[in-house]
Amino acid sequence: MQGPMPQVNEHGGGVWSLRVPIPDNPLGHTLVHVLDTDRGPVLVDTGWDDPASWTELTCGLAALGIDVPDVHGVVITHHHPDHHGLSGKVREASGAWIAMHAADTDVVRRTRAAEPGTWLDYLARKLAAVGAPEDHLVPLRAARTSGRMRTLPGLRSALPDREIVPGELLDLAGRRLRAIWTPGHTPGHVCLHLEEEHPSRLPGHGRLFSGDHLLPGITPHIGLYEDPDDSTVTDPLGDYLDSLERIGRLGVAEVLPAHQHAFTDAAGRVRELLDHHEERLTGLLGLLATPLTPWQLAVRMEWNRPWDQIPYGSRNIAVSEAEAHLRRLVKLGRAEAVQGTDPVKYVAV
Ligand SMILES: [Zn+2]
Ligand SMILES: [Zn+2]
Repeated sequence: MQGPMPQVNEHGGGVWSLRVPIPDNPLGHTLVHVLDTDRGPVLVDTGWDDPASWTELTCGLAALGIDVPDVHGVVITHHHPDHHGLSGKVREASGAWIAMHAADTDVVRRTRAAEPGTWLDYLARKLAAVGAPEDHLVPLRAARTSGRMRTLPGLRSALPDREIVPGELLDLAGRRLRAIWTPGHTPGHVCLHLEEEHPSRLPGHGRLFSGDHLLPGITPHIGLYEDPDDSTVTDPLGDYLDSLERIGRLGVAEVLPAHQHAFTDAAGRVRELLDHHEERLTGLLGLLATPLTPWQLAVRMEWNRPWDQIPYGSRNIAVSEAEAHLRRLVKLGRAEAVQGTDPVKYVAV
């Protein structure tokens, strides 16, 4: 093997994590967890579908004495490509099953079946409806007519063959791993509660594989669920906040997230995130003293850099986040749509 040794971390009690790099992404890497079972190793998430990431994953497993063909199963926290990307390759090499929550499996199925232009059409329609200026829509229309469309990640991702059922134990020989449905970041995100005593006897109820739901130093992106075929008015931020409270009540001894590092005091981190979102919603209400379209709100919201320095694709994600916050405020009765506006404007109540 070439290059530095893969970063393998032993968490005790038959649990390890491997750092699998995400190419060209500030997040750096996905923590793929390996769980020993009586029928062989099971992976929690797999990493980005890229040759270098695959090499890191296989080298990491080899360092634990695991050949990829030995992998028994793959449990996926959510459909994003930094978690589910390599699942197909693992299954090809091992025959492992792949388990996912039905709502995220639907997203995978839809993405695989979508005509190439569907997503661009949806995005252009949606951005126009939220008040995006014409110059923002031009590149989308150009990509549509030229046929030069960047392939969306996840277009060829593997279709899961097992369903993760909320509240139930996964069928893992010799382990107690319970699925906790935590929608918000995606509609079918799950955390996985390892209901076994902590190997270092830390106080609390076992450990939690938290995916992207609960991370020690990052607030996960909460946008809309973005389903071109479904006009149901969902409330992803409301889902996320409810899911956070549910996780906070588990009283786990340690959290094993899919990025950054393991940490304790899940309840404290949950409180921080709940406070953060409450502050953010209150801040938005201040902005909404004047009626604003979702686009105008996104431009005025606080991001990690000034709006004019936010790249094109990230602006689309930012608008989705602004919309998720508006949905929440409307649902709470703290904001409402202004009658007769098109694109529709919202104002604080
Ligand atoms: Zn994610
Ligand atoms: Zn992620």
